[in-house]
Amino acid sequence: MAEPVTVSDDGSLVVPDEPVVPYIEGDGTGVDIWPATRLVLDAAAARHGHKVGWVEVLAGAKAHAECGEWLPTETIEAFRRYRVGIKGPLTTPVGGGIRSLNVALRQILDLYVCLRPVRWFAGVPSPVKHPEKVDMVVFRENTEDVYAGFELAEGSPEAKKLIEYLADELGWEVRADSGLGLKPISTTGSKRLQRAALDYALSRGRRSVTLVHKGNIMKFTEGAFKAWGYELVAEEFADRAVGWDDCGGEPGDKLLVKDVIADAFLQQVLTRPDEYDVIATTNLNGDYISDALAAQVGGIGIAPGANVNSVTGHGIFEATHGTAPRYAGMDKVNPGSLLLSGVLLFEHLGWQEAADDVVRALEATIAEGVVTYDFARLMHDVTEVKTSEFAAAVVDHL
Ligand code: NAP
Repeated sequence: MAEPVTVSDDGSLVVPDEPVVPYIEGDGTGVDIWPATRLVLDAAAARHGHKVGWVEVLAGAKAHAECGEWLPTETIEAFRRYRVGIKGPLTTPVGGGIRSLNVALRQILDLYVCLRPVRWFAGVPSPVKHPEKVDMVVFRENTEDVYAGFELAEGSPEAKKLIEYLADELGWEVRADSGLGLKPISTTGSKRLQRAALDYALSRGRRSVTLVHKGNIMKFTEGAFKAWGYELVAEEFADRAVGWDDCGGEPGDKLLVKDVIADAFLQQVLTRPDEYDVIATTNLNGDYISDALAAQVGGIGIAPGANVNSVTGHGIFEATHGTAPRYAGMDKVNPGSLLLSGVLLFEHLGWQEAADDVVRALEATIAEGVVTYDFARLMHDVTEVKTSEFAAAVVDHL
């Protein structure tokens, strides 16, 4: 019988034989990519004696049509109770109500890590010469920075008041016709994100963690993020990790922690991407970086994502693309993004072998030229297949 995932006293996840996993099918092409994803995940799990107790929960347009709410309380409660979940893309409600369902879920469950692994799959068309050199895992802080939502519109009474206050109290001259936004970066928010990145890198034997920041300009936010990262290494990881300055870039058998300014990073990931491995960065940097890296490996359409709270074990694994409404129900689009999010879910559950199987089978399917329309239009001598046929081909390769 399916049971909830729980957390033991030492903070590790306790995964029953058949964990309950709530899923949101997703709007638009969700009806195509979710069944494809589920087919592959179930087959891979079964090969290793696992079973997933899927339960559908509603959100987005489907929820709105059925119960008049975009994000029903039962859905939030299911994610809270069962700790893990997977979701297809959701329509962003236009006008009024919740600004973004994805943001709402992240905030409610305090999913402070946005995890975006980026690697190349042989055969996938890429704009660079050596996409195989890209193998990075981005840890993007998910709760603060300019995403905190503290913004004031130009000309509003609140903006005027704040501009006056800044002039009177701090002597800061801000143009009267400015909109204003706040960029909070806390020690708490930074260190918990960096801790998650370090734990991940150590548990998977990765080579380095790079703190990506813009601290040369924003000293007390981005610069502090960098400083707190090195502080954390000294405080909690000194036996297993070492900062660049403390080892001259020669970490021995320890994990190397280094840092780079965001603009230099964006150059270097094109010129020498193999120097980067696990990345820990602030929210806005992370947004740009994850999509830029995904584009570099031709993987925007198949890039997976996860939003995780590494302390409570809560995690929602999701397709990073939208609902692509014009293809909805056509059995046409690429299920890769949601499928690879399922791989992250399996890894989170500790089902590493099943996760590895899915990746290998996906690689083999693409490598033999069996692809959906989005890849087919950029490749030569390939067989274009439907979403469901692609999933069946991946299962054949398991
Ligand atoms: P989108 O749904 O991501 O679609 C943009 C284009 O990306 C599609 O026209 C298609 O390109 C390509 N694409 C998307 N999914 C694909 C797939 N599975 N396989 C292959 N190609 C795929 O972005 P949008 O049209 O801007 O947004 C539509 C709705 O989705 C909006 O309501 C938006 O708010 C929402 N959205 C949700 C999420 C989320 O839930 N995480 C994220 C982004 C957007 P081609 O037509 O060139 O083939």
